[in-house]
Amino acid sequence: MEQSWGKAPAPSVIMDLSPIARLDGNARWELVDATVEAWRIQVDPAARFYGVADNSLYYKLDPKGRQKLGEWKRSRRARSVSWADPELLELATQFSDASVVTTDLFRDHRRTFPWLQGTTRIWKPVFVAGTIRFEQLDYSPIPAEEVSWRIEEANLTPKGFGGKEVRDALRYEWACTNTACLWSRKAVIEEDPAFKDGDVVCPSCSAPARRLAVRAGTKEIVFFLEDDEIDRIPLAERAELVIGRSRDLGRYDVREVLDGAAAARISRDHLKVVNRNGRVFAEELGSKNGTEFVAAEGRVVRLQTGIQQALATGERIALAGGILNLRLSGKHRPRGTYEPDLTTPPFLRNESH
Ligand SMILES: [Zn+2]
Repeated sequence: MEQSWGKAPAPSVIMDLSPIARLDGNARWELVDATVEAWRIQVDPAARFYGVADNSLYYKLDPKGRQKLGEWKRSRRARSVSWADPELLELATQFSDASVVTTDLFRDHRRTFPWLQGTTRIWKPVFVAGTIRFEQLDYSPIPAEEVSWRIEEANLTPKGFGGKEVRDALRYEWACTNTACLWSRKAVIEEDPAFKDGDVVCPSCSAPARRLAVRAGTKEIVFFLEDDEIDRIPLAERAELVIGRSRDLGRYDVREVLDGAAAARISRDHLKVVNRNGRVFAEELGSKNGTEFVAAEGRVVRLQTGIQQALATGERIALAGGILNLRLSGKHRPRGTYEPDLTTPPFLRNESH
């Protein structure tokens, strides 16, 4: 298991931030705060919370909520990744005493995480008379054939569509073409695309999506505060990501995750990472406080401006003396699902024809 954990204390409650923030249908950080508060009052006043968010949650929150998510990352209490489910379950495997707060039954993950079958560790927040209560989720073991079917469903039918065109569309990365949509500010849409009249559209705004390179060539860049992971960002083939103090298209804005003094040590255009044919290169852009390349065996080299340094798994890039670190993920970019969990498998349906 490639799970990284730095200096943050071990969590006693692992939170699935996206469904919690969307408990009432909108995305509101207040619901995360209310869940934390309710757990402290009803279950454990000394609980240590750790949250995992989908990258898409950021785009659904209001500015205040985004700021709160950033605070959680800064204080090493949260990370944001393309798809939270497997990450959340890996952390729950690593911290086996922790409770998990989610609304999901993770039926398509029960083969990979067999401890889910019959577990009593998973709690669902529910509204009762204006306050949040916790209900133990029913993780009664389900039969192997249903687990297989859930996995198949999750892989083949995003947003209720089946068939070859969907599978073909999912082989590629997509970008949103609508400049009013928040996804257009990102190099790739970090959710599965949707379909309208046979065309691939942005899942958020329904504008036509632009096809990028094949997904198999996408790499993931993992950002760390020291050794604590805070962000994981997909980098499609031929795409580039500029890291610095700026918020434009194709940029990683360090002000989201560093406090004022630390962020000030990063230049506006500090470092660029590019994906060329599935290989990732880092290029120092002439920043004030520089960038170091740390080889797998620990050798440290200062990057020269304009020279592209190849980056392999196990190597690290340290910005401004290590205020922010990044690595290449050894994992493939995972793909999220569209909640097939709630449906009934055909062999359990009681239908007569
Ligand atoms: Zn869009």
